[in-house]
Amino acid sequence: MSFEISISNVVQGLEPSATLTMSAKAKEIKSSGKTVYDLSLGEPDFVTPQHICNAAVEAMKAGHTKYTIASGIPELKKAVAEKYKSDYGLDYNTNQIVVSNGAKHSIHNVFFTTINAGDEVIIPAPYWVSYAELVKLSGGVPVIVQTEESNNFKMTAEQFEKNITPKTKMLLLCSPSNPTGVIYSKSELETIAEIVVRKNLFVMADEIYDKLVYGDNKFVSFPTLRSGLQERTIIINGVSKTYAMTGWRVGWTFSPVNVAKKMGELQSQETSNPCSISQYAALEALTGQQNCVTEMLVAFSERRDYVAKRISEIDGLSCPEMGGAFYAFFNIKKHLGRKIGGVVIDNSEKFCLELLMQKQVATVMGSAFGCEGYVRASFAANLEILKNAYDRIADFIGDK
Ligand code: PMP
Ligand code: GLU
Repeated sequence: MSFEISISNVVQGLEPSATLTMSAKAKEIKSSGKTVYDLSLGEPDFVTPQHICNAAVEAMKAGHTKYTIASGIPELKKAVAEKYKSDYGLDYNTNQIVVSNGAKHSIHNVFFTTINAGDEVIIPAPYWVSYAELVKLSGGVPVIVQTEESNNFKMTAEQFEKNITPKTKMLLLCSPSNPTGVIYSKSELETIAEIVVRKNLFVMADEIYDKLVYGDNKFVSFPTLRSGLQERTIIINGVSKTYAMTGWRVGWTFSPVNVAKKMGELQSQETSNPCSISQYAALEALTGQQNCVTEMLVAFSERRDYVAKRISEIDGLSCPEMGGAFYAFFNIKKHLGRKIGGVVIDNSEKFCLELLMQKQVATVMGSAFGCEGYVRASFAANLEILKNAYDRIADFIGDK
């Protein structure tokens, strides 16, 4: 008699991460010997700076290869606190910081620690792929607020208020945004903050792209907007994007003490500490020379300008100004319903799959970010890759 272990209802309903799925597809095609222009994953193409790698080697030599405190080593928490103090003037004690296995883990910890079954979390769309699934995994209800390209994909005060119900607990903000690169201005955030306070909500502010900001755009850390916001905000940040350290898996939260205490306890049962060696590498990232960040920013900025120009030149494509992060989120609506390479392109998923199969350019469908009719393409790739990729996107779209 055959037997099959059944999957829990919660995990049965879980969507896999579309960013990771598209990147796996790209890698699969690559392994068959084809050249693939991979703009799927939001991952800096730079290697981790040498001084950070050296710190990891030194940490191993010094014997930092054992369990640490589950919520992270005190030196790293201190460095994290000092960075937000010097960068944004915010005061946090080390008992308000929890270091986790990447920011994605931090986000899961936040939901799991603060959400009860049925609690509603407002998420402006387009949103990063993992938010809604992680809210559901924690028993919460994602309330998706569709924003408009004509408003640069920013949620208006009216849209926010309209979606607040007695069950609303949290607002999720990601500025600079993955997937659009859009940044909320200080005054826009002030309007949102006023509603948060008046309606007695709290905010999870994903500030992981705080250092990747271009041109005249300015990043504003949410709790700096007015006094009293710090107790209503949980900040997410980490080393993955700023220091090209995606594989090291270090992220963290700033939160009120009671939340940090419980997240640390959760982590003590769940994963224990994040990798000890990675924590020492992250410590060097925060406290060592910061020229590496500036150098990467200069390269990203040049790529952003190039990509914005290419998109504006391709028939029917448009996207808002990428103020930060490293994604273009472009409108493909003009091409939906068309036949390209003999195949009807009826949605963004079909667009991305056919673009990958026909032209070997990997991107991610807007539907995965809660926004049909758009495609996300990372520009964390060198200019040669970007040139080839956009030449092929233009060819694909130009197909008669
Ligand atoms: N938040 C956003 C907005 C992201 O784009 C990412 C990218 N993975 C994360 C969180 C998670 O980062 P990490 O690699 O540190 O888990
Ligand atoms: N955040 C990146 C992205 O959006 C990395 C992949 C992931 O963690 O989803 O592509």
